Amino acid sequence: MKPGQRQKRLRLSESHRKCPICQSSGRRLIFKQYFMGSALLTGYHVVTCNHCGAAYADLIPQQSDFNRYYRQFSKYEYSHHNGQVSASDMRTFERLANFICKSDIDRNGAILDVGCATGAFLHVLGRHGFKNLHGLDPSPACAKVAARLYQIPVATGTVFDLGCQSGQFDLIILAGVLEHIRDVRRALQNIVNRLTPGGRLFLAVPDAMGLAASRNAPFQQFSTEHINFFTASSLRNLMAVVGFEQLAHLRFMRKQGIKTTEPIVCGLYRQAGGGG
Ligand SMILES: [Zn+2]
Repeated sequence: MKPGQRQKRLRLSESHRKCPICQSSGRRLIFKQYFMGSALLTGYHVVTCNHCGAAYADLIPQQSDFNRYYRQFSKYEYSHHNGQVSASDMRTFERLANFICKSDIDRNGAILDVGCATGAFLHVLGRHGFKNLHGLDPSPACAKVAARLYQIPVATGTVFDLGCQSGQFDLIILAGVLEHIRDVRRALQNIVNRLTPGGRLFLAVPDAMGLAASRNAPFQQFSTEHINFFTASSLRNLMAVVGFEQLAHLRFMRKQGIKTTEPIVCGLYRQAGGGG
């Protein structure tokens, strides 16, 4: 969305969710969050799953409403900074790239960054020697900025349709994506079908276990766009459900602004028992 552009509220139908990790319907309300002036949400219930303990936002719109929202109201093309991401985001990408570089992923392997925005993380991976880089983002504006700034091909599409991306990938990245998705398991199942045998999945999300150490916690995470509140263990549980095992993980605190921080947990996964 451009600065000064007025948000019109989408026509939406909110409903209860099953737990995004274990699909249980039993939940406990821990907080009611309200929003003003959002195109997407007037509020939601922050709940925890009675079965697996995962925390998530309940009573939210359907996945199709979120898809439409990210297509129409994207702010991730960073038009107010000529498409450039912030210095703190670049530092975070550098840290995530260093984590990926410690693995055995081939520098010539095909990499797809799903929800790549303007492709800055792919650009950082390129600086680390990765050569076969592809992006996907729901906002068509992001593809144009990625081509202009980094000469990286970015297709327009979602985690559910993968746009016009075809073929298989040795590494698929979902960084800052899973916390935005209502149908988490459906999204992951769709993605893992596109990995080569032995291919890796890299996930990075805000870390709910780190919120207590964050000065502005937890309300900066209870935003209109963040609807899943992962921890290292709920992420591992989620990946086990789709048949993946964790190879490595990292938790760290990233600086967002002068006084704001965001705890991050990331992990690298492969198909359980798949070797490679
Ligand atoms: Zn659960």
